[in-house]
Amino acid sequence: MNALITGGTRGIGLACCRLFSRCGYRVTALWSRDEASAAQAASELPEVAFVRADVSNEAEIAAVVQGMGEIDVLVNNAGVALFAQVQDTRWEDYTRVMNVNMGGALLACKYAVKKMLARGGAIVNISSVWGVTGGSCESVYSASKGALIAFTKALAKELAPAGITVNCVAPGVIDTQMNGRLSAEERAALAKEIGLGRFGTGEEVAEAVRYLAEARYVTGQVLGVDGGFCI
Ligand code: NAP
Repeated sequence: MNALITGGTRGIGLACCRLFSRCGYRVTALWSRDEASAAQAASELPEVAFVRADVSNEAEIAAVVQGMGEIDVLVNNAGVALFAQVQDTRWEDYTRVMNVNMGGALLACKYAVKKMLARGGAIVNISSVWGVTGGSCESVYSASKGALIAFTKALAKELAPAGITVNCVAPGVIDTQMNGRLSAEERAALAKEIGLGRFGTGEEVAEAVRYLAEARYVTGQVLGVDGGFCI
């Protein structure tokens, strides 16, 4: 079985690479900018093909996907955050966040689905709790993740006749570099808002991704992995 995981060099994506690789998948993982994380991930997981390709660049994604063999599982995990009040939001930040978080999933699906149509497959999109509830000072990020949820549901309907499932994970606060800007005080305050009283781990999200990748009678769903943050 072959899995393509976007944004596989850090955090949730790296945890997915570890888990899928351990479970016997041949994994190809994409990244775009952070060479140090890519080198570290490649030395930890030599069996994974780490390929530099920006998910928001159609030519790069087309080349990577067309160069792969069959694809059984696609995990659209690559994402970027944006913390800004709406009056301070720059158009270039809006286009970057939408182009990576939503556009990247569209492009990877566009090319991977062509390979899945004949034999079925599974797509798992990584949205966010903010795509469900909206996060203050993260309106653009929330919009990109909400779009990914609508995309998931529409695509699940479109691809079900071909035996391709499309689901979504909505993580809460996960302990990755994406939350590295938080101070110790902010982390403690945030943890108090989470039912289970702590941040989640990339591994805990990866377990949910694997479940959705292998569940054959679940499609169009949004699975919260948030420790009770959003009930
Ligand atoms: P992270 O630690 O910042 O890792 C992001 C990964 O995506 C990196 O491998 C990064 O590599 C890659 N990436 C970013 N832009 C890319 C692009 N244009 N093309 C290809 N790869 C790209 O983030 P994370 O916390 O693991 O988050 C993973 C996903 O979960 C994201 O979609 C995020 O929105 C979502 N999420 C995270 C949390 C959380 O609390 N951490 C909560 C809810 C949802 P490069 O930097 O090299 O490009």
